[in-house]
Amino acid sequence: MLLVRDMADERPDIQSLKALREAEAGCTRCPLYKNATQVVPGEGPAHARIMMVGEQPGDQEDLAGKPFVGPAGRVLDRAIADAGIDRKLVFVTNAVKHFKFEPRGKRRLHKRPNAHEIDRCHWWLDIEKTLVKPEIVVALGATAVRSIAGKPLAVGKIRGRFIAMATGGRFLATIHPSYLLRIQDEADKHKQYRMFVDDLVRCREALEHAA
Ligand code: SF4
Repeated sequence: MLLVRDMADERPDIQSLKALREAEAGCTRCPLYKNATQVVPGEGPAHARIMMVGEQPGDQEDLAGKPFVGPAGRVLDRAIADAGIDRKLVFVTNAVKHFKFEPRGKRRLHKRPNAHEIDRCHWWLDIEKTLVKPEIVVALGATAVRSIAGKPLAVGKIRGRFIAMATGGRFLATIHPSYLLRIQDEADKHKQYRMFVDDLVRCREALEHAA
């Protein structure tokens, strides 16, 4: 399956991740910049072989300005290690670069980005992919799938297989690690974690075959 995504806007001439971070910091393409602490750009080697794309920064990421430094990030780090993937090969980022939340007393409750916000922020993800040129993009959850595919696709239907992207490379869909944090039953949590690691193992094996 080859997915084609139209870019409605002209892409700016950005030649480095540093320039990209600076441009993202001034972004007003959707309303999410208004309430977040700061933009949270992607992070990792300039030419990583794998790019992992989450949904959006969480509370801790918003405060730190770094992706995947909260509880879900710790699960992701463990799964990357358990899959035998060298962390130095991995660039981590999000489909949406500002934290969307609902204030509840002193807490900020995560709110899922809507289709408009995902589509507006795809602009930045597309530039990240062009600069880093990862061989494999891992879409962590439905928001990342929607951004990468340009349309909603059920993660359960496409999970674990490689799909070619029109921009080059291929992507594999799997769950977002925050899903594992919400599972109460220990046996189920362990099973789902193993399935997540298996998806990442597929990515490692694909890279090994390509090397
Ligand atoms: S979420 Fe993305 S598109 Fe929206 S303001 Fe932030 S960087 Fe721009």
